Amino acid sequence: MTTTATRPQLAYLHDQLEDLKQKGTYFRLRVLDDRQEPECTFDGKHVINLASNNYLGLTTHPKLIEAALEATRKYGVGPGAVRTIAGTMRLHMDLEEKLARFKNVEACVVFQSGFTANAGTVSAILGKEDFIVSDELNHASIIDGARLSRAKILVYRHKDVAHAEEQLASVKDQPGRKLLITDGVFSMDGDIGPLPGLCAVAEKYGAIMMVDDAHSSGVLGRNGRGTIDHFGVHGRVDIQVGTLSKAIGAIGGYVCGSRDLIEFLYHRARPFLFSTSHPPSVTATCIAAIDVLEQEPERIEKLWENTRFFKKELGLLGFNIGGVTTPASETPITPILVGDGRLTMDFSRELFAEGVMATGIAFPTVPEGKARIRTIMTATHTQDQLQRALGVLKKVGKKLGIIG
Ligand SMILES: *Cc1c(COP(=O)(O)O)cnc(C)c1O
Repeated sequence: MTTTATRPQLAYLHDQLEDLKQKGTYFRLRVLDDRQEPECTFDGKHVINLASNNYLGLTTHPKLIEAALEATRKYGVGPGAVRTIAGTMRLHMDLEEKLARFKNVEACVVFQSGFTANAGTVSAILGKEDFIVSDELNHASIIDGARLSRAKILVYRHKDVAHAEEQLASVKDQPGRKLLITDGVFSMDGDIGPLPGLCAVAEKYGAIMMVDDAHSSGVLGRNGRGTIDHFGVHGRVDIQVGTLSKAIGAIGGYVCGSRDLIEFLYHRARPFLFSTSHPPSVTATCIAAIDVLEQEPERIEKLWENTRFFKKELGLLGFNIGGVTTPASETPITPILVGDGRLTMDFSRELFAEGVMATGIAFPTVPEGKARIRTIMTATHTQDQLQRALGVLKKVGKKLGIIG
């Protein structure tokens, strides 16, 4: 007998897992046996990988690997403390300066992840007298930050600038501060936040403007500078969040903005104050990745070429990739909308059995009835891999009646 078997106190968790099994949305973690690449091995099975956020193929880039190894040899494996005590290394400052220059802002602070960057920032800058006006599909880390701040949360319909304005107008005579916040690219639908409209509305009501560019970092804008650059709204977004965990290929998140904003977060953002910073290997990897973004723009071009091809082919096969009642994706994220959670999970399992890794996503990650397979293109998928993946999608889609 193991000493960790569920005792009666936690039996309700077992019941809830049984419930998920009944509903068909219980899952096991798929385990990657080798490298995060377009063709790899999960659970011992060779598959074409349509599920990772490794947009530019940087998880295995030789220059990044070398940077991580060199930093480890030189500086060891860990920083030994939180940033504010003794854990700020020269490399941490170098990365923050590099990101600030890349984004053309005064200053930058790096967090352990995009999640902590969002949650730590929103909860630090607002209090219970304040208001957060938030897109209904914003990322969970924004929602958690909003809850932690204890500010009042006003949700607006997805990408609906007029509704965001209504929400701001409804509290304009209240004394609290207002924060208008959107994802740059929405992670489950792949559509782009309406930044110019939102910036105008934020300016009209004197609201703080914040954008979470997790899925746009390295993907949109010049050399992957994100949606602010994509739309040319420089100087109109007070707080830009990015991630180092997706296209950048490592792990981490960052906040870019004015020097005052960053200094304030150094003093008040709880993940910064109470959780240890990145090891030197991670920081050096990210520094090398920004160089790659500037030196190898052909990766981003290839990413978009693959994206255009794959989207077109999915549409031709008859899959519902959004556009009528749901937004159409404008980025390398292309959801295949199925609707029913159980059918979605069956679809994903059958695809895997046929050699395609495409994760099913159901409630609570997406709303009930909006379950989907999410596909993500990368720069490193070959034409041959994409053709084979499309062949499997067609075969399994027909077999399960998802396409005619
Ligand atoms: C992935 C994601 C995050 C979290 O980033 P991590 O670096 O993985 O913690 C935040 N916001 C959005 C929109 C995301 O898609």
